[in-house]
Amino acid sequence: MATMQAIAEPAQDPAYVVAMTQFNAVADRLGLDDGIRALLASPKRELTTHFPVKMDNGAIRVFTGYRIQHNVARGPAKGGIRYSPQVSLGEVRALAMWMTWKCAVVNIPYGGAKGGVACDPKELSLGELERLTRRYATEISLVIGPQSDIPAPDMNTNAKIMAWIMDTYSMGVGYSVPGVVTGKPVELGGSQGREEATGRGVAIVAREAMKRMGKTLEGATVVIQGFGNVGSNAGRILNEMGAKIIAVSDSSGGVYHPEGLHLPEMDTIRAAGGRYADYHREDRIISNADLLELPCDILIPAALENQITAQNAPNIRARLIVEGANGPTTPEADAILKERGITVVPDILANAGGVTVSYFEWVQGLEHYFWALDEVNGKLERIMTRAFDEVYALSRREGVTMRDAALMLGVKRVVDALMLRGIFP
Ligand code: NAD
Repeated sequence: MATMQAIAEPAQDPAYVVAMTQFNAVADRLGLDDGIRALLASPKRELTTHFPVKMDNGAIRVFTGYRIQHNVARGPAKGGIRYSPQVSLGEVRALAMWMTWKCAVVNIPYGGAKGGVACDPKELSLGELERLTRRYATEISLVIGPQSDIPAPDMNTNAKIMAWIMDTYSMGVGYSVPGVVTGKPVELGGSQGREEATGRGVAIVAREAMKRMGKTLEGATVVIQGFGNVGSNAGRILNEMGAKIIAVSDSSGGVYHPEGLHLPEMDTIRAAGGRYADYHREDRIISNADLLELPCDILIPAALENQITAQNAPNIRARLIVEGANGPTTPEADAILKERGITVVPDILANAGGVTVSYFEWVQGLEHYFWALDEVNGKLERIMTRAFDEVYALSRREGVTMRDAALMLGVKRVVDALMLRGIFP
């Protein structure tokens, strides 16, 4: 039986369609020259690899992986690696493009990249996961490197996987290269605060957005789709800031309690590999679709793309949406939410805390000098609030949504860098 998956047409991938629709709209708004527009619409470099992995039962299975660098005008390419059955060329292309805009929005000196392997990590043993990671890392070491392209964790990847990638790359060159990845374990040169950084950034911008709406987080109700790294850390920190988390979910379904969930219990279920759909109080189980339509102050999609669409946007009852995930809202849904007066803090601003602390990790590694947690968190707070203020001010000045403003700011900064560098040769 052939195990290599069929490759779908990338231009039709739903996430790629969303990324291109957003880019074309902002290119029109900024009046971009046709050549610059064509350049930014295309990834700089795409690597597709079909590679074999020896499975525990002795069989050889072929997996497909990608590493895509969208643009490097502002600095080395930066972006996470995702393991999921849905990973495709089109999805990774979209995610790489969003990384370029995101790094520019928070004004850190990186371009955008993304990687992924089409696989279901739940079906792999630890040994299979390590062999898959090391072979994929070897395949992409053609293009990654501490000065060229620096991967980090994303869906279903973590510090342990980053350690394997760092070790594999180091074996190839003959010496340790911690700067080739971020999101490493702290023992290997990882940064304090990286694990929770994306969630912390989500909480910071949620607090700032509530402030602009004349509200505080005290007693505010929060619904989180996808209680993984981003969702659970955002939930815990928002809870510490006074908010009440009333619903969380994983891919199986969610748990809802209008009086507020006991988050340590939700964490324990997750850590034990449990499914929220099997929660012991059946009356509190809710589907992912229903969860998105719950009445709440803040909705945080923190799972995957294309969750808020033209179908459910008319039924969303949150006043504020803060995008922990990349690309959770389609352009059609954006228009409906705007019409309904629901504020959206867009992904390229809201979830930029992760890449920001990845940048801190990279800087600390290059200097061989490591910072305390409060220093990391203080710097993250300053970058996130500054970026929020800039995007909010631009949205007010131009009379556009925060997504349009963030895209305008990000794309403009990349265009400025391109123009200063000029077109080689
Ligand atoms: P994760 O693997 O730790 O968690 C993902 C969560 O989403 C899990 O709870 C999973 O069960 C759930 N999920 C998966 N499919 C789902 C579905 N169909 N419906 C509902 N829930 C589903 O991943 P993560 O690192 O927290 O990433 C989540 C999102 O945040 C992704 O879009 C990712 O690109 C984005 N993001 C992550 C980081 C980071 O630093 N990890 C940074 C920026 C953006």
